[in-house]
Amino acid sequence: MSNVVTRFAPSPTGHLHIGGARTAIFNWLLARHFGGRFVLRIEDTDTERSKQEYTDSILASMKWLGLDWDGDLIYQSERFDIYNSYIDRLLESGHAYWCECPPDEVEKMREEARAKGLKPRYNGRCRSRDLGPGDGRVVRLKAPAEGRIVFDDLVKGTVAFDVAELDDMVLRRSDGAPTYNLAVVVDDATMGVTHVLRGDDHLSNTPKQILLYQALGFDLPRFGHVPMILGPDRKKLSKRHGAKAVIEYEQYGLLPQALVNYLVRLGWSHGDQEIFALEELVEKFGTENLNSSAAGFDPDKLEWLNGHYLRETSPEELARLVLPFVAAEGFDVDASRLAQLVPLFRERANNLVELARVMRFMLVPAAEVEYDAAAVAKALTEEGRRHVAGVREALVALGTFDREGCEKAIHDYVEGNGLKFKQVAPAVRVAVVGAMGGPGLPDMMALLGRDDVLARLDRAVAL
Ligand code: GLU
Repeated sequence: MSNVVTRFAPSPTGHLHIGGARTAIFNWLLARHFGGRFVLRIEDTDTERSKQEYTDSILASMKWLGLDWDGDLIYQSERFDIYNSYIDRLLESGHAYWCECPPDEVEKMREEARAKGLKPRYNGRCRSRDLGPGDGRVVRLKAPAEGRIVFDDLVKGTVAFDVAELDDMVLRRSDGAPTYNLAVVVDDATMGVTHVLRGDDHLSNTPKQILLYQALGFDLPRFGHVPMILGPDRKKLSKRHGAKAVIEYEQYGLLPQALVNYLVRLGWSHGDQEIFALEELVEKFGTENLNSSAAGFDPDKLEWLNGHYLRETSPEELARLVLPFVAAEGFDVDASRLAQLVPLFRERANNLVELARVMRFMLVPAAEVEYDAAAVAKALTEEGRRHVAGVREALVALGTFDREGCEKAIHDYVEGNGLKFKQVAPAVRVAVVGAMGGPGLPDMMALLGRDDVLARLDRAVAL
């Protein structure tokens, strides 16, 4: 099935949201699974609402998610001539007609239909008037009067619509711009799209598009409509539920693999497996296991998955990813230094913002360590300070200042003075990092290096 062609067709009227991202991921996976093509098409026919900044943002999010596309990026706004040539064809073959009914009259016709308990629709007044082009005129499809449109949806199974319920839809607006349904059908058909996977908010467009495929004599693709993502309360997903745009997740410090993995599982399953490497998704993805019931967004699970990926990523890669977040905290550190620190701290963070924050005290100079007042009061008593000074001496005398050396220095001081570890360690810990808690003390000391550790101990003793 290597002729599989899928597409993602965002309208650049906002940033890429998780619903759109999930649609993009499904289409990308399907194309990659079959070794086919994945087309990216910017649906910017609505020139008022479409903005280049949103196109840029959507593209940046696609790249961040790792969703590469095949061939050139397509802008519908550059294809108006193509759409018009297909509209001309429909006019010539008698499948479309010019209509001069002004919008307020069409609205009246709709209201009349509504009042009779019928579906609101245009009453076909211009159907057989044989009008030509003219100011304010639109082109409408001459929809068949009756019949049923039935298709086998990849997600929902058999879906049927009564043609009598469909309008003679507008194909070309009075300003010359093509409508969404016309442009989508011309593009999907001429780009050889074999599978149209999209949100089920588009389900009602599909019968209209099928009429157009038929009128234009194109083969139909397979359609699949995935249910919308809901909030944890099963209501329409919104910001209130903690859902963000993809770009916000990036800023928030999520790893792209975590978001991809999470979104795929919100609508597709493979047994009860939760964690998938990207290659595994490509290998296993198929439309058979797309869920027909809507999934609820769960920010805690996303956070949990992100924590998982934080711990799975190599230190070098994680250092590269966390670097901008560390820089945003005001530190100028190189990635190789961060690669040493991250293995020690990643257990304590669920996202890159947190990871940068928990490493903060390792990055500040001794003079800027923030001492937690309660920890100081508890651990840096007079006796505690004496032990800090004692350990300091042992550290000065140390040959190689590494993890084992630091551990031995503390140990020797404790043993040599007939003390217990817990009488000494908390004071040294607070002196070095400013607070209780944190990773192993010798690990942190070795990473800070001798000069920094001694300076911190001196500062603590003098507090
Ligand atoms: N441009 C449409 C949207 O952003 C998608 C069209 C489609 O997938 O057919 O909702």
